[in-house]
Amino acid sequence: MKVTFLGTGTSQGVPVIGCSCEVCRSLDFRDKRLRTSIHLEVDELSIIFDSGPDFRQQILRENITQLDALVFTHEHKDHTAGMDDIRSFNFLQKKDMPVYARKNVVEQLKREFAYIFSETKYPGIPSVDIQEIDNSPFFIEKIKLTPIEVVHFKLPVFGFRIKDFTYITDAKTISDKEKEKIKGSKILVINALQIDPHPSHMTLDEAITLAKEINAEKTYFTHLSHKMGTHKKVSALLPENIEIAYDGLKIEI
Ligand SMILES: [Zn+2]
Ligand SMILES: [Zn+2]
Ligand SMILES: [Zn+2]
Repeated sequence: MKVTFLGTGTSQGVPVIGCSCEVCRSLDFRDKRLRTSIHLEVDELSIIFDSGPDFRQQILRENITQLDALVFTHEHKDHTAGMDDIRSFNFLQKKDMPVYARKNVVEQLKREFAYIFSETKYPGIPSVDIQEIDNSPFFIEKIKLTPIEVVHFKLPVFGFRIKDFTYITDAKTISDKEKEKIKGSKILVINALQIDPHPSHMTLDEAITLAKEINAEKTYFTHLSHKMGTHKKVSALLPENIEIAYDGLKIEI
């Protein structure tokens, strides 16, 4: 199984438009963060989690030419805005794109991309095959995905476990019951927004506490704000088995 971080930035991305802070001015490529998304390659299957506003350039950068499913964690724009660009895969693969999302996310997609779901379709628009999911395991072909419901301010968001890999973005809290599903993961990805408190995302300290509790072989932090500090400075503060992810990082599991 191979994971590629397509984007590791919070909703505004890093650098932030008009900001001249140390992080936004950094020349380190690891401080350039597109909106959060990952690409998972497992047993010949190619799956992407979320299609934010940077979807197109992420696909081009990683030269992804096959996509078997798009899975949504939640309905926020930084995770859905780029869905129109799946039409390239419709043309390449000559079939509808399977899209996995929970009910409230499907409803939001139908509002935001009304033209995709309209009765009379304009030629060339994306074609999707909506697969509604809930908080129970499901399969994409032979691959089992277990949703993990986390809380993002008041919004329920899905993380996912696939074999020994768990991916969670946009979480503030996770119930003990849902944490049980994460335990035993070799690789954990979790959001860590910034140092200061935030109502809807884990801070650096909260993410470290969770990482220690789960104690995966390796934990990666994603969905970072420019307020976190530079990759280099924050990395120096972390225990050995915790790393800050960056755009383009690839891991084998
Ligand atoms: Zn987000
Ligand atoms: Zn900045
Ligand atoms: Zn969000």
